[in-house]
This record gives sequence, structure tokens and C-alpha cells, in this order.
Amino acid sequence: MIYLDYQATTPLAPEAREEMLRWLDGPGGTGFGNPHSPHRLGRMAAAAVELARERVAALCPPGGKVIFTGSATEALNLALRGTARAGDARPLAVSAIEHAAVLDTAQALGCPVEILPVDADGLAGPAPAFPPDTRLVAVMQVNNEIGTIQPVDAIAAHAKASGALFLCDAVQGAGKIPPPAGADMIAISAHKLYGPKGIGALWVRDGVELAPLITGGGQERGLRSGTLSPALCAGFGVAAQLARQGCEADAAHVESLWVKAGELFAGWTLNGSAETRWHGNLNLRRDGLDVARLMADVRQVAFSAGSACASGSGRPSHVLRALGLTERQAKSSIRVGFGRYSTLAELEEAAEKIVAAAQQQE
Ligand code: PLP
Repeated sequence: MIYLDYQATTPLAPEAREEMLRWLDGPGGTGFGNPHSPHRLGRMAAAAVELARERVAALCPPGGKVIFTGSATEALNLALRGTARAGDARPLAVSAIEHAAVLDTAQALGCPVEILPVDADGLAGPAPAFPPDTRLVAVMQVNNEIGTIQPVDAIAAHAKASGALFLCDAVQGAGKIPPPAGADMIAISAHKLYGPKGIGALWVRDGVELAPLITGGGQERGLRSGTLSPALCAGFGVAAQLARQGCEADAAHVESLWVKAGELFAGWTLNGSAETRWHGNLNLRRDGLDVARLMADVRQVAFSAGSACASGSGRPSHVLRALGLTERQAKSSIRVGFGRYSTLAELEEAAEKIVAAAQQQE
């Protein structure tokens, strides 16, 4: 199987897996402690969690704290719901191409939601227009479907000048490009940066007040009760450290594959900006392509039809529609995503199979 769906999830880095095993001990071991227990095993586990917290925080700007959550979806819920005050009906402003974790949560809050448009390249403007009393602006750093990199530093400054909080979903950018320095809150997911599934984080700038989503034992500064998994935290921490240290090498590798991919998929149309984009994301379309048939014909390659989250729903991608694509164009698009462990040989073999199967449809 050739894996080319790096936006949906990434393979676990062997170094992260090894560290995780240390905290998945059985009887007689020392790695199974509850990190919230005061005895020695508990303190060892707590130390592992705090080391992981530092490593994840190093992916974020200075001047804030990392709250571990069960996923980035939960982190985004904590940010949006945790800053909502009872009786505060001020609007939220969110980009049209946000992940459902932001779009659906914003809609569920019951206050007005201003949708910030993107242009045909899939880019939001640096100073989007939103109502003057807007409470919070949310624009993602790198889009998960088309890879476009949003001008989040400019938008953060604009939001701040307007008196609004700025939330950035950095799930697809964390560890790959510099963090959104002006954000008040940043959501990250371990499994998108070669860490384990089941853990995410919300970075919160000092001074930003949040109410908990989950109450109970008061863990995570009272913001997210529940016993933490030291194994998941430790795996996340090692993955974050590797991403930070290997950021340039990862980007150079991805760039070399991107250049080759351009040749392999000549004749296909790229959705979204080619330049202002994470180059590990190829969202391509071909007029008249039956994507379901293509996926059935090319089972040896794991790639995606639109976003993994939306696939299976039968709905055309809201991201591709926001670029101005017709429903037909959106439905004839595929996403091929590669990263640290992808090889040129895999990309060549996959492209050959995909292109041949697409040509057979003509
Ligand atoms: N935001 C973006 C941009 C994503 O790509 C995803 C996952 O697909 C999420 C949020 C949700 O992340 P998680 O799987 O950790 O809930």
C-alpha cells in the first residue's frame, strides 16, 4: 500500500512510538503511573507529561501555556466554547474554508457568525471585514484540503486592533512552518505531525480567560478534567521535538517531491494557490473525472477525495466550493498528500497508477 494521505493523518514516527512504549508498562514496571498521583510512579509520569508539554509549547509562540486535549477538534471546541460568555451575543468571524471543528462549533454557539470569504486561490485577505463588535476571529494557518497558507499574522494584528480574540487552527502547519505569532489561541493535533492519534493541544496566550468544557478532577489547570495519558503526551512531545528539529529537512524533502509531482500530474489542474501553499498537498482536478471509480480502480494507493472528514458524505467540499469551483469541478478533485516518509519511488508508482486509471475513463 502506498500512503499518500498525509493531511488525514501521518504515520507514527518510530522515535515517538518508542517513547510511548516506555509509558505503557504492565505490572512490575515503572511507566504506568497516574501523572496526578503524588507518589514516585505518579511523579515520574508527571515529569514525562511536563517534558512533553515543553516540547509541544516549543512549536508555539512564547508567552502562553499548552493544555492537552483529546484531539484538535476538542481544542477548537475549548477555544470557541470556553471564551463564550452567557448572554454575550457578539458575533464570531470564521473563514469559509475552516475545518468543520470550527465551522460547526461556531454555528452551534447561537451567536451571529460572519463567514470570511477566500479568493479563487483559496486565500483569505490580510484584513477581512467583520462586524465591529466581533468577539473572536478564527482563520486556519494551512488548509487541510488544499494546503493554502493564510496570512494569519496580518489577520491576527487586524483582529487585535479591532478588539477581537484571534484563534488559529494550526493543525496542518504546526511543526512545518513558523507558528502564528499573533494568535491568542492555537490548536494542534499530534497525529498530523507524526505523533499518536487521541491527543491534541490548545495553546492559550497568558491572560486569555477560558471556561472549562469538561469539569471534574481539575486537571490541566481546571480547563480539561480527566487523567492524562503519559504515553500519548510523551509520543506527542517527541513528535513535536522531531518536527521542530527536522523542519528544514522535512520541507526540503517535500519540496523535491512537489517538483516531481508537478511533472507526474502534468495536465491536471491544481486547486488553490501553487505558491502560497504547503507543498506536501496536491489537490488536483480533471474535468469529468469520476473520483469514486478512480478510488475503486486504484486501491493500492491511499489518497483522498476532497477532505477525509467530508469524504463519504457525498457532499462536495465546502472548501473547493468557496474557491468558486462548480459542484462538478469539486467532485472531480482528488487530494494527494505526502510527507517525511514518502519516497520518490512511491510517488512515481502512485502517480502512474492514478493517471492511467483516469485516462481509462476518457
Ligand atoms: N483542523 C484541521 C485543519 C484538520 O485537518 C483536522 C483533522 O483533519 C482537525 C482540525 C481535527 O483534528 P483532530 O483529528 O485532532 O480532531
